[in-house]
Amino acid sequence: MSEGKILCSFCGSKQEQVDILIEGESAYICNNCIMKSYTVVNESNNIKHKLLESIKPQELKVELDKFVIGQDEVKKSVSVAVYNHYKRLTHFSNHEMINVDKSNILFLGRTGTGKTLIAKTLANILNLPFVIVDATVLTEAGYVGEDVDNILVRLYHEANYDVEKTQMGIIYIDEIDKIARKSSNTSITRDVSGEGVQQSLLKIIEGTIANIPPKGGRKHPEQPLVKIDTTNILFICGGTFDGIENIIKRRLKGGGIGFEKKSSNAIETNNLLQNVCADDFINYGFIPELMGRLPIISSLEILTKEIMHKILTEPNNSIINQYKFLFGLDDIDLIFTKNALSAIVDLAIKRKTGARALRAVLEDVMLDIMYNVPSEKNVKSCIVNEKTVKDNLPPILHFYKKTA
Ligand code: ADP
Repeated sequence: MSEGKILCSFCGSKQEQVDILIEGESAYICNNCIMKSYTVVNESNNIKHKLLESIKPQELKVELDKFVIGQDEVKKSVSVAVYNHYKRLTHFSNHEMINVDKSNILFLGRTGTGKTLIAKTLANILNLPFVIVDATVLTEAGYVGEDVDNILVRLYHEANYDVEKTQMGIIYIDEIDKIARKSSNTSITRDVSGEGVQQSLLKIIEGTIANIPPKGGRKHPEQPLVKIDTTNILFICGGTFDGIENIIKRRLKGGGIGFEKKSSNAIETNNLLQNVCADDFINYGFIPELMGRLPIISSLEILTKEIMHKILTEPNNSIINQYKFLFGLDDIDLIFTKNALSAIVDLAIKRKTGARALRAVLEDVMLDIMYNVPSEKNVKSCIVNEKTVKDNLPPILHFYKKTA
């Protein structure tokens, strides 16, 4: 650069317009830009420190308890994992730190047991951008379907186009079990999609710099792409892994000592799933490299009747409370008898879709009621009993006394 033409490479100010202009190898920076950069770095460190302050594992679990019923061990282990993840992130620039591996999480559990709910609730508590991705629609770049990089585009949108926030976000990959490598008797194309997608996911999970289109898309080819570093994004994967029980059982039996005797009844599904380890997932069809990047494995319990009952009634935004609220807007007191609640849970358990079935059953029960009751005048309360649930009989209505 010739004398007289020296400009700040960041703001374009001329040498005579600023107090100091520092020369680097191929660029210059003025004192104003140094101060601005310092503020940005400081603010970003503050966000990270505040985040860490607000998420001590015990506090995180208490917050999770408000929304997720049961699954205590899972909530405990994710609280610790998430705390460590963001602790690592806060100290990321601290070079004397040992490089602690990222605590990505793998959830194993039946459908409707709360895998997605836990991931979503964590992101809400931490106020971080969050996206849910269905692994079944993911493809390798170049194939028809959703490109793995597209996940980052969605996270960037969720983060309101803030690169810093995007890089601290949480991505939940649902149905991860569906991209397991298929055994040799299935078609070659499915094999490719499974392992190929695992390889693509591995890249973003282990950390890469992805180039994604800027806000509003890329209007001109020369418009720069946005660089997203995925190193600190927290990945939570979830799946039902149907049949993995057999793999675990085989390994435990093979290992001998002690397990053979218990295997008939004590090692029921729940207990078996608690014993799962990375090797079982590799046997299920996952590449070891991907398993290596998902160090926290957590098994969700099958929901008992008691837990289902709590899910139905306890959370502030429980489905029962949602219906009560709706009726309350019409000044009607909606009441469910104890036996009605129990019958709803029984019907839901039969559907085998976990807590998800509670809403479906309740919607069936409530449809006629929601259709008919608004046409009745002066309704004070509407009582849903066991017969309403089981035999589709009308609820009992009580009316305000007519004034003379
Ligand atoms: P999955 O395990 O299949 O990801 P979800 O987390 O999507 O299941 O659960 C489906 C719905 O069931 C949730 O939106 C929530 O209403 C309810 N639910 C499931 N498990 C729980 C739980 N442990 N506590 C409270 N609600 C739950």
